[in-house]
Amino acid sequence: MNSPQTDTSLFKRLRFVLVGTSHPGNIGAVARAIKTMGFSELVLLNPRFPDALTNLEAVAFASGAQDILESAKIVTSIEEALAGCHYVAAVSARLREFSPPILVPRALAKYVSKNIQEPVALVFGNERYGLPNEIVVNCNALINIPANPDYSSLNLAQAVQLLAYECRVAELGDGSTVSGIGFQGKLASASEIEGMYLHLEQALAAIGFLDPTSPKKLMPRLKRLFSRTQLETEELNIFRGIAKKILDNNGHADTPAPDGNEKLF
Ligand code: SAH
Repeated sequence: MNSPQTDTSLFKRLRFVLVGTSHPGNIGAVARAIKTMGFSELVLLNPRFPDALTNLEAVAFASGAQDILESAKIVTSIEEALAGCHYVAAVSARLREFSPPILVPRALAKYVSKNIQEPVALVFGNERYGLPNEIVVNCNALINIPANPDYSSLNLAQAVQLLAYECRVAELGDGSTVSGIGFQGKLASASEIEGMYLHLEQALAAIGFLDPTSPKKLMPRLKRLFSRTQLETEELNIFRGIAKKILDNNGHADTPAPDGNEKLF
């Protein structure tokens, strides 16, 4: 067991176990898949060829994840493969009559990220035969990727990639994954937004789209639309610029922006 049990990050306590893998390329591709998602622990139970970790094809498919191959462990029993793990999930394309509870990858990932602090293992089967029942029945859960029912067997490394991705997203949390991706500007303040509404209202009245004597639900509807957007200051300034132009073209005096934003236009 490489992961100290004191480190509760899933990145340190999730182990990927491959059972009886036949193709060296798949082992390399698995190393790459787990490294791209920030994981590192790989255990091979009885791979079908002796030089599993140094084989040229494995190394080629690992690409830059050679370090994962170098630190991978080869074992000869499932007990050794799972030593130290408190929760074990079998990952299988096949549903069985006798099986532990079935989860989709996302549910598994959330569960092991939030509810388990100890080491966890994900166990993957051989390319042709999958996982033997003797292993599956002893697991805490069976993870099935809900694929095309007519063609549901993924390539081993692709199945590992998908599980590793879900575990990464679950561990990083929705907030950091969604808002952390891509460029983000400064969110507009409540008073900036209020100023924009006022400005838009005046502009819409100036072109006769809004009748101040019978405004109906136009402004509440626009407010509801904007409230769904997490408007940024720069975006808000675009709307103020549009409103300003409308008012200018219609011979109206402009409402100054609360913090001098009109300078941008
Ligand atoms: N023919 C085998 C499939 C082997 S694919 C069988 O019937 O089980 C190799 C491994 O990739 C599987 O053992 C499993 O760990 C994983 N895998 C492939 N497709 C999967 C799916 N749809 N759901 C869960 N695991 C899958």
